Amino acid sequence: MQITHSKALFEKAKRYIPGGVNSPVRAFRAVGGDPIFIKRADGAFIYDEDDNTYIELINSWGPMILGHNHPMIKEAIVRALEFGTSYGAPTAKEVEIAELIASMVPSVEKVRMVNSGTEATMSAIRVARGYTGRDKFIKMEGHYHGHGDSFLISAGSGAITMGNPDSPGVTKGTAKDTLLAPYNDLEAIERLVAANKDEIAALILEPVPGNMGLVLPKEGYLQGLRNICTREGIVLIFDEVMTGFRLAKGGAQELFGVIPDMTTLGKIIGGGLPVGAYGGKKEIMEFVSPAGPVYQAGTLSGNPIAMAAGLTMLKHLNQNPEVYTTLNNIGDKLVKGFQTSLNKLGMNYTINHLGSMYSLFFTDQAVFDFESAKKSDTVRFGKYFQNMLKRGIYLAPSQYESLFLSTALTDDLVEKIIKANEESLKESF
Ligand code: PMP
Repeated sequence: MQITHSKALFEKAKRYIPGGVNSPVRAFRAVGGDPIFIKRADGAFIYDEDDNTYIELINSWGPMILGHNHPMIKEAIVRALEFGTSYGAPTAKEVEIAELIASMVPSVEKVRMVNSGTEATMSAIRVARGYTGRDKFIKMEGHYHGHGDSFLISAGSGAITMGNPDSPGVTKGTAKDTLLAPYNDLEAIERLVAANKDEIAALILEPVPGNMGLVLPKEGYLQGLRNICTREGIVLIFDEVMTGFRLAKGGAQELFGVIPDMTTLGKIIGGGLPVGAYGGKKEIMEFVSPAGPVYQAGTLSGNPIAMAAGLTMLKHLNQNPEVYTTLNNIGDKLVKGFQTSLNKLGMNYTINHLGSMYSLFFTDQAVFDFESAKKSDTVRFGKYFQNMLKRGIYLAPSQYESLFLSTALTDDLVEKIIKANEESLKESF
């Protein structure tokens, strides 16, 4: 595998862009070697600047649920382009997408469009604070909610991959209002709530976290959080930036039957364009300006090209529930194949899997929270990653990420991935 062009681009990029990339994990720091620079993507494949072809298991970190360059999404974007690229004014499409989101996501009665998941979570916390008149909020260790100051405390995803879960630049004043709890531990929440009686505005979490690798909620855990939040007047926020429109058309809240007060969304909602959203109960969302006093705005929010792509994507998912059966079957087949290989090789590594998301952890212990995820052998993961890459499989370059499957993965491709996985595991010893 030649990566001459990628190497040259990276050298040049490092002169002008911090670390040579526009988002840290892309630099491949955790897995060694230089990052590959992408020229194009189509269906289940991504192609680099040296014309190497890879099967996609990142899918832009989630959005490309139907595979890359889907003709339906492309056509919607091209059509929208005929009408100009931005107005900074209300449009009919915004109304249509808001109505559709409210019909798909159980907790959402009203929704505000923003430009990224980061904006969605920052805004949701502000609204929860405005609504309750309280300052503190609870965040789970190892969960990632974008790069807003108050979330960069024991943060997952790139923050842990780069070794900076507590980022410099976040003031002590900001950090003191973020209360940390381990995931999957209801007792810990009860203790925090008792110690901060009537001071906690919100509890935010990824209901099925994917940013410390994929971790599943224990039986009754999400409902337990719901009960505590209802009892204490705390706004329960599900960050479904990854799981929204992926685990089910109504996200993890639909799948687990637990309805939060607010939900943050991103990724799939933009069909691959930069979009996020936050929504929830009418009485809470009525606090958002100009309906209410909590300020939040955006020049490019509800951008017409992004809305056209997102609306087409969501309509398709809403009208074709079989997409989820297809995705889940692909996930099941892949993970079953991986498990067979692990058994054959006598390796006890842990696979966490739900629908079209999975993580293979290089530990033989169960992974149910941040501490257990950190037991993984990240050096071995790095070797495995490189072994997969040279076999043409494009994985997230960190142990602390979930993989995302798309409907573009045919049976043939699934078989190829399973084979590459077995060979790569063998070679990673
Ligand atoms: N929340 C979650 C759960 C995420 O996974 C991410 C990004 N991966 C974000 C928020 C931030 O989204 P963005 O990168 O669009 O700002």
